[in-house]
Amino acid sequence: MSKHKIKLYTTINLNGGWDCCDMALIEEFDCETKRQAECREEFWRREYKATKNSRKCHTTADEKKEYNKEFNKKVNIIKNPLRNLQPSEPCECGGHYKHRNKAIHLRSQNHQNYIIKKQNENIKLILCENINCI
Ligand SMILES: [Zn+2]
Repeated sequence: MSKHKIKLYTTINLNGGWDCCDMALIEEFDCETKRQAECREEFWRREYKATKNSRKCHTTADEKKEYNKEFNKKVNIIKNPLRNLQPSEPCECGGHYKHRNKAIHLRSQNHQNYIIKKQNENIKLILCENINCI
């Protein structure tokens, strides 16, 4: 992508180019790495709500994780529109799962707890039958 398609540069070009713009120093900031400088630049970009400078200077690990999650959701909807319409299937444990996620559900903590609880009930039942307590 050409840098001239970025909103900031488009705005500058539409208003007469760099000759018609002023650039002001906001802060002198001591840092050791470029990453530290980008973090500080991002702080000021957000502080001034710089709507024309819509590109983030720095993204935190949590922001990247959230972005990737949302991006993958959108890609999945575009790539697999029918897959997302699959109805959930009920499970004997009380939970629900989509057919494609059955194996994941069967290994889930909720389902495993249900299996253990069911096995314990069966053991109690067998013990009761053996000692004629029913
Ligand atoms: Zn289940």
